[in-house]
Amino acid sequence: MALEFASKVRRIPVYPAADGYASEGEIAMMASNESPYPPVPAVVEAATKALARVNRYPDPTNSALRRRLADRHGVPASRIAIGNGSCDVLLAAGDALLEPGAELVYAWPSFSVYPHLAAASGARALEVPVDAEHRHDLEAMRKEVTVATRLVIVCNPNNPTSTALPLDEIAAFVADIPRHVCVILDEAYVEFSLLQDPDDSVELLDKHPNLVLLRTFSKIYGLCGLRVGYALAGSDEFRTAVDQVRQPFFCNAAAQAAALEALNHQDEVARRVERNLAERIGLEQGLRDLGIEPAESHANFVWFDLGEGREEPEIVRGLAQRGVLVRAGGALGRDGALRVTVGTQAENERFLEALDALL
Ligand code: PMP
Repeated sequence: MALEFASKVRRIPVYPAADGYASEGEIAMMASNESPYPPVPAVVEAATKALARVNRYPDPTNSALRRRLADRHGVPASRIAIGNGSCDVLLAAGDALLEPGAELVYAWPSFSVYPHLAAASGARALEVPVDAEHRHDLEAMRKEVTVATRLVIVCNPNNPTSTALPLDEIAAFVADIPRHVCVILDEAYVEFSLLQDPDDSVELLDKHPNLVLLRTFSKIYGLCGLRVGYALAGSDEFRTAVDQVRQPFFCNAAAQAAALEALNHQDEVARRVERNLAERIGLEQGLRDLGIEPAESHANFVWFDLGEGREEPEIVRGLAQRGVLVRAGGALGRDGALRVTVGTQAENERFLEALDALL
């Protein structure tokens, strides 16, 4: 007899997981916006040390990491929520804020997990198309906010389109949203943006108790394999609610230790931002040489339309056969587009050569 599941199981989209984890040989992993560089040795050491004590549960309050983030950002620890990746905080926010009859607003294409929030809760999702430059259309998003809205998500820089908006536009948008509506500013890639300093958006929290900044150790810090992210909120109540709806030990001991140590290496963060920028410019130029104009990227990935008459699944398959894994735009909200993570120089060259051969 078949199992009878909750109706949300039929609604929740399956996350478009990347291939390649089981592949052997030299694969250029350019499909998941990961860092091509491993964590610094001190971070590996901190995580390893934590492993020796895993007969004990991790600190359920994540107190050391929250205190350290409080010092770094000047936000009280009571307003900082930690998660098993920032995705964990995002899903918990959906759980805590949404229910049938409620609405959430986000741009499309944007992060592929946002549709999950509506499907899991029974809330209604309003997906607002990005503009012709692949950027959030904040004016159109504002128009979708109604009395039923509980949550608005702005992804800046936006995954998968790579574009960013200047902070003054976002600040004006947040100021225009009613106070009882939670605004999540997903800043998973904020360190890569040339439009703002990552500290700038933190200042908005003082003015907007309904604002939440979502940050992660998965991208610039290169810790996605450990799963740790966090939210800085404008008020205590967000953290209390997301902690209430989750299992008690949502962030493992090695992840807490590694994140704590990673924060001590800001010089390395700066070096990685520079390296990504240099490599991204090379990648963008290589695409232009092939007659492709990418969107204006402020992230560690690029986004572009392949152009009339080019079959995207065929190109993705051809690249994979040449050992280069990228993301098909169709699964992310735009047929005919590709999202390619900035890799090392060698990986980027390999991608460009393979794409050239296929076109
Ligand atoms: N937000 C955005 C926009 C992302 O692209 C990602 C990861 N791809 C996340 C959040 C979640 O990252 P993590 O759970 O690894 O922190």
